[in-house]
Amino acid sequence: MVKQLKTIKADFPILDQKVNDEQLVYLDNAATTQKPKAVVEALDHYYYHDNANVHRGVHTLAERATEQFEAARQKVADFINAGDKKNILFTRGTTQSLNWIAASYGEATIHEGDEIVISYMEHHSNLVPWQQLALRKKAVLKYIGMNEDGTLDMADAKKQITDKTKIVSIAHVSNVLGVVNPIKQLASIAHQHGAIMVGDGAQSVPHMPIDVQDLDVDFYAFSGHKMLGPTGIGVLYGKTSLLEAMPPIEFGGEMIDFVDLYESSWKELPWKFEAGTPDISGAIGLGAAIDYLSEIGMDQIEKHEQDIVNYVLPKLLAIDDLEIYGPKDPSKHTGVIAFNLKGLHPHDLATALDMEGVAVRAGHHCAQPLMKYLNVPATARASFYFYNDSNDADRLVDAILAAKEFFKHGTV
Ligand code: PMP
Repeated sequence: MVKQLKTIKADFPILDQKVNDEQLVYLDNAATTQKPKAVVEALDHYYYHDNANVHRGVHTLAERATEQFEAARQKVADFINAGDKKNILFTRGTTQSLNWIAASYGEATIHEGDEIVISYMEHHSNLVPWQQLALRKKAVLKYIGMNEDGTLDMADAKKQITDKTKIVSIAHVSNVLGVVNPIKQLASIAHQHGAIMVGDGAQSVPHMPIDVQDLDVDFYAFSGHKMLGPTGIGVLYGKTSLLEAMPPIEFGGEMIDFVDLYESSWKELPWKFEAGTPDISGAIGLGAAIDYLSEIGMDQIEKHEQDIVNYVLPKLLAIDDLEIYGPKDPSKHTGVIAFNLKGLHPHDLATALDMEGVAVRAGHHCAQPLMKYLNVPATARASFYFYNDSNDADRLVDAILAAKEFFKHGTV
């Protein structure tokens, strides 16, 4: 890394605190990431010096706010190689981005008997919008299965995607199994059948270099808060021809060109979809997050996280009675690691780890169909980011061993 890990941790003041008398180890990055000083300072600076509404005023502050807001859009476009900033729509997050595709593209193009193909490992936000669209339209929702190790079954993908398929929508990285799905290959299969490919990038964009044109996805969704940015800002990338053909989803200020009593016309892309005052500071904060990530380099971030996985996964696999979900081969596993300790509810395990200062998540991770597929009610989940190190990994392993020892004589 260009920046040393030590200096990176110093950029995140929140990490420097004790929780339950222990130095905090934050391993809940798949839920949300911490914010470096540079992002918080960008928000501060905007509100202290430049705050105004965008695209409306001719005064200096309005011009500054507009310039920074649109510069942030350009940064997002460059970060995922979108080609043009008109292909970048600001949303509230991945959930809203995916809902927008279903509400606009889906509503306009899906008819009775059409097929929508997703997988068993989808987050609810890449499942329920399609499920509800299919119910509304009498379309057929189909699921791609998984191999034993939790990777996507590509032979099944080829069976499920047919000439009736109109939309394929898959997580690029699973928020439970930690697998990377072959989005480029899926896009190629979808396109051979005349379907569009949607990528849920919530767990990929923060952790690896992404080139949406190379992936040849038609839409791609992600959240600012999972990549150092503020909560409340997200992105929907779409190909120009699709976005141009799509009707707006919401109506009001900002998105109109001309309004008459009985008809109106819309602004050009991307503003056609952004009704009302947008999350201006959120976009500016996301821009600052992208600057920070780019300074380190996404390839370096990916490599550092892979090094941690190579280090920690064998240690976790060596713990008796600890079930790890997803691939056992570290080269197939990202820094999202879900697990259960035999005989202990994951919430109790997460509480025990918190007592050791180690923050992990427990629950169904908004993936109830996946829990059913795995035949478990819930799991604990540790998720690493580039500001974590091997010491954090050791603390996780030690805390699990301590919990195991503690509960050995306990209630279960
Ligand atoms: N998809 C995946 C794979 C996710 O991990 C998440 C967040 N856990 C989402 C979608 C939804 O993201 P958000 O809550 O930021 O809209």
